[in-house]
Amino acid sequence: MTTITSATAQLIDVAVETVRTDAKQRFVKQETIVVDLVASDGLTGTGYAYTIGTGGHSVLALLRHSLLPVLVGRDSRDIEALWRLAYDSTRATAVGAITSLALAAIDTALWDLRCLRAGLPLWRAAGGARREVPLYDTEHGWLQLSTEELVAGARAAQGRGWGGTKIKIGRPDIADDVERLRAVREAAGPAFAIMVDANQAFTGAEAVRRAAAFAPLDLFWFEEPLPADDVAGHERLAATTSIPVAVGESIYSIGQFAEYLRRGAASIVQPDVARIGGITPWLKVAHLAEACNVEVCPHFLMELHVSLVAAVPNGRFVEHIPQLRAITRDEMTIADGCAIAPGTPGLGIAWDRDAMEDRRVA
Ligand SMILES: [Mg+2]
Repeated sequence: MTTITSATAQLIDVAVETVRTDAKQRFVKQETIVVDLVASDGLTGTGYAYTIGTGGHSVLALLRHSLLPVLVGRDSRDIEALWRLAYDSTRATAVGAITSLALAAIDTALWDLRCLRAGLPLWRAAGGARREVPLYDTEHGWLQLSTEELVAGARAAQGRGWGGTKIKIGRPDIADDVERLRAVREAAGPAFAIMVDANQAFTGAEAVRRAAAFAPLDLFWFEEPLPADDVAGHERLAATTSIPVAVGESIYSIGQFAEYLRRGAASIVQPDVARIGGITPWLKVAHLAEACNVEVCPHFLMELHVSLVAAVPNGRFVEHIPQLRAITRDEMTIADGCAIAPGTPGLGIAWDRDAMEDRRVA
């Protein structure tokens, strides 16, 4: 039997390892929402989602009051049906960030159960395209860092054999952004990807202006140039610049990804498995992008995304930002500049239950 007999959730606070500042926000604490689903065959699936500091208690309350109770007594193998059941039970509060995060914590737990039961690692159960995926660094590109620190970070990533580095942009003076990027490009040379990320800071006109100023620097992508709901602005930008436009971390539904792709407003998609509602919708976005000849480079959650990028044929890069080090017992494996998807059955995340209990807040 595979019936869900128990569904519980908890909230854990994890201090971030590095001060992370971009054009719009400061990320100083990670709220981690963890769901445990126990099935009648004795297996426990564990899933999770996160916030960058606010709203975690709301996600937890939605799970405990509305979503987890509907799962008990259901067959854990029916992931599509359970995702839809949970979604429909909260229809008037979806699509939205809080609901998507709650759905993701459930969905990833269900996938953990599925993979444990099948004896398969996630990367293989979800598609099995290849086990090794290229890495790029984000942890040394924050907006508060000096140009010297950006250059040192890029050289360090290059020295480890990683494929690129991401630099936050959105300094008030455009010349400041250009000078910082030029210094990194000159230090790294031509065969190294430099991504830039504005975190939705610009108007449409300003994004076009900045993209023109950046064009000689051979950037790999221009991430979140505009507010995520300005699809027309992204469409205009993509039509006017040679720099690929990357979006996805602030998109909470597969339909909105479809809209971006239909309109040619995204050259690279960056679904975040927590914000899109779990592995089930994440894979749909990746496959939709493949059908549109677009690559997928997910946002954050490297410990889980390594397996998902490895699962799909159009996965391109995993973003290196350690997220779970404080509450897990092992590290993501890296070899020859690539992240290696875990080979153990399940999601491949070795939770440290004692460390989790120490940091539990609700
Ligand atoms: Mg970003």
